[in-house]
Amino acid sequence: MGSEEATLVLIKPDAIARGLAGAVLSRLEQLPLALIGAKVTRVSQRLAEVHYQAMREEPFFNELIQHLRGELHGVAYVLALVYAGPGAVAAVRQAAGATNPEAASPTSLRGALGRMTTTGLMENVLHASSDDREAQREITLWFRPDELLVPLYASKTVEGQTRVWA
Ligand code: GDP
Repeated sequence: MGSEEATLVLIKPDAIARGLAGAVLSRLEQLPLALIGAKVTRVSQRLAEVHYQAMREEPFFNELIQHLRGELHGVAYVLALVYAGPGAVAAVRQAAGATNPEAASPTSLRGALGRMTTTGLMENVLHASSDDREAQREITLWFRPDELLVPLYASKTVEGQTRVWA
């Protein structure tokens, strides 16, 4: 469900370490989308593993988890953002560019700001949800209902007053 299209962005630790969070925000701010959620947050092992559950068979999975947790860049957090509006998923994916920064359009965020390190680590600056279904899964993983300005998905009250996703 969800009447409004939305997408999750994570400004990854490589971008935080290189002082690029502002550049990413500036670029995304140009899109005709509404910022409806934002927070700095630590990334637990479990959160990272659930977020990247589709990649768990990949040979680089452990490195990917370490990367998202900031362990490869001495960074203790990511910046998590939710953008909403028509075409949000595709618009942010296009601004992000291809997964591999070396293959990404030079005008995309990953093409302009990302890099492959000599050790093969993909420093690709940001995560952007790949489709509507993943966006809902990821947004409800990273955010509680009351952390979003817009009630994107169904939620319910438990233990008297805490709102959780239904
Ligand atoms: P995305 O949706 O464009 O981020 O790409 P994927 O969902 O395919 O991959 C998730 C993340 O895994 C990417 O953002 C990269 O950080 C990492 N990744 C994907 N493919 C590779 C690869 O071939 N090598 C390495 N080292 N990392 C990769």
